[in-house]
Amino acid sequence: MPPQNPTDIARAALHQLTEEGLPPTPENYGKYYRKASGEAEPQAKIDPNACGPLLAMIRDMLGEASERTGSLASDILSQNRTIKSSIDDLSQAQEKQRMLQLLGTILTTTTSIHTSVEDAHLDLTATKLALEHIKSELQESRHLMQEDWLTGAQNRRAMDMVLSKEVARAQRSATKLTVSMLDLDHFKRINDEFGHDAGDKLLQHLTLITKAVLREADCLIRYGGEEFLIILPETDINGAQFVMDRLKQAFQKTPLAYGGKPIPVTFSAGLARLMPDENGHALVMRADAALYEAKHAGRNCVKIAGE
Ligand code: GH3
Ligand code: MG
Ligand code: MG
Repeated sequence: MPPQNPTDIARAALHQLTEEGLPPTPENYGKYYRKASGEAEPQAKIDPNACGPLLAMIRDMLGEASERTGSLASDILSQNRTIKSSIDDLSQAQEKQRMLQLLGTILTTTTSIHTSVEDAHLDLTATKLALEHIKSELQESRHLMQEDWLTGAQNRRAMDMVLSKEVARAQRSATKLTVSMLDLDHFKRINDEFGHDAGDKLLQHLTLITKAVLREADCLIRYGGEEFLIILPETDINGAQFVMDRLKQAFQKTPLAYGGKPIPVTFSAGLARLMPDENGHALVMRADAALYEAKHAGRNCVKIAGE
């Protein structure tokens, strides 16, 4: 029967890794931890929404680790006392037999301390690896939770975080921050003419092209169906207009071919630059109003929000 307790499972996993000469990376460790616990390979990563059991497991592991280090400390303290008193007795001892007996006690106690410390080190290493593994799975799940499943762009959940972080940074350092709300023109017609699958592929195509045009620090968010928000840190309106021109050119040069036919498509966009004391929500609303203007001006154009 496989071990039940998390620390024993962790120890067994670590032992197996060492046996096979594998590095104790969180991935290797995770695999062997599951093997040791008799668990099947997971189909999905840890669901951060189901945090209750996970937190209970982390609490148990840390509780155990803390208990073990606590008992190690008191063990060492008591063994230290034994050594100290044996040394005191040794300085008083007259007989060879007694001296040998005391030296024996000192040696056994020292060996015992060494074993306790080695065991504790192994336990703590196993706990540390288990926690690192949980952390890396959680990071990956969090990353997936912030991604739009169809396009791979960031989703609204990520938008709230990125926007508040970038707005705070721009306000703090008095740097520029511009956002662009972009919407595909007559997308409904494209769906009607080419089919919903073509529409989906077009959204993926737009995402790929946009990501290629943007810088590392920029962020692309799928705001709604065929509507995207682009966050451009340290960028003013001129810079944002330049980005939108490049995007338009890239879009025209590389249309999506569906069933051997290129799908003609344009987009409209609204730009807004962050004003002093403005919050992220107000900024996005202004960009949205500018997008509305672009649609009203006949589409396939970019409008700038009034300040
Ligand atoms: P406009 O130029 O005014 O933006 O017109 P539009 O047709 O692009 O806008 P409208 O809001 O009338 O229609 C948007 C369409 O986008 C309707 C909806 O079915 C489609 N859509 C939304 N999400 C998806 C998606 O994930 N995949 C596909 N294929 N279509 C989608
Ligand atoms: Mg549209
Ligand atoms: Mg729309």
